[in-house]
Amino acid sequence: MFEGLIKQMKKLQETSVSVPVNTDEEGYLDRECPSKECLFQFKIHEDDWKNICKDEAIYCPLCGHSAPSTSWWTKEQLEAAKEQALGVVKAAINQGLADGARSFNRKMNGGFIKMTMSVSGRPKYYNIIPVSAQEAMKLKIQCGECFTRFAVVGSAFFCPACMHNSIDRTFDDSMKKVATKIDNIPAVMKALEQVSGRDEATLTCRSLLETGISDCVVAFQKMMESLYLKKSGKAKVQANTFQRIDDGSKLWQELCGESYESWIGADRLKTMILLFQKRHILAHGEGFVDDKYVQKTGDDRYKVGQRVVIRDSDVLELLDCVKTIVAHARKVQARNEEVL
Ligand SMILES: [Zn+2]
Ligand SMILES: [Zn+2]
Repeated sequence: MFEGLIKQMKKLQETSVSVPVNTDEEGYLDRECPSKECLFQFKIHEDDWKNICKDEAIYCPLCGHSAPSTSWWTKEQLEAAKEQALGVVKAAINQGLADGARSFNRKMNGGFIKMTMSVSGRPKYYNIIPVSAQEAMKLKIQCGECFTRFAVVGSAFFCPACMHNSIDRTFDDSMKKVATKIDNIPAVMKALEQVSGRDEATLTCRSLLETGISDCVVAFQKMMESLYLKKSGKAKVQANTFQRIDDGSKLWQELCGESYESWIGADRLKTMILLFQKRHILAHGEGFVDDKYVQKTGDDRYKVGQRVVIRDSDVLELLDCVKTIVAHARKVQARNEEVL
């Protein structure tokens, strides 16, 4: 009576259920970083996944983790595939039971007592439904090296196909991040005030502002160093040169005859030096003014031992200075490439 079921089970052992995965309306596939620390979800254009990416290694755009191409299913895709496979198994079991009932009924036919068996109400066939894609992501990126197209929410550092890390894009993303932080401070303040009270809301927002200054300094340092190395052809410069405004400016002056001062003017440069120094004492002295700060900046608004105050206008001003200098340095660097 159970031969039908056993036959179906055997058949199942030999079949693999393949579940198609759909792309979104723009042709992008959903992927997820398999590193347990990260699990970042992103999208990659299906054509580039097939034609550019290599089976042996795909890279996470956020953390750079690498794994073979078979490890990048999203949890939603795995769940949906499991559900589809289960549907196929259930249908096979139902089919096996129905076959068994049919042969039972055949054998019982014509006996003294009539017995029939039926398996009802359960599907005996299962149509696999492709796994649907998640909503398209707005931020589309194309790798400058291998031209792979991928999409993320927020920002990304690495190309999933070749792990190229674009310093230019990272800089632009950092600038956007700082501006967004400042923009969102009133909303964060309001939301936190309701949840955790005014003290904690103020502390968090102060910290957000202060990190805005250090984000600008770090992004500026990396970008200016990269542009300088490209243009000068040098392999490296002394560590942290571009964290020191005077030293960095001097290098550009020697290289192309233009300095930071020529790009943003003396007054703004002075403000920039002041904010770079404030970042230094926030990072290394918990924000308390020391002799060195007073000497270097000539800022007489503070006495030694006081704590610096960062306002949103400070961060926005620094953001603007940093962006202007980088824009000039990019122009100089591009000029260099044309000559070459
Ligand atoms: Zn990752
Ligand atoms: Zn690439």
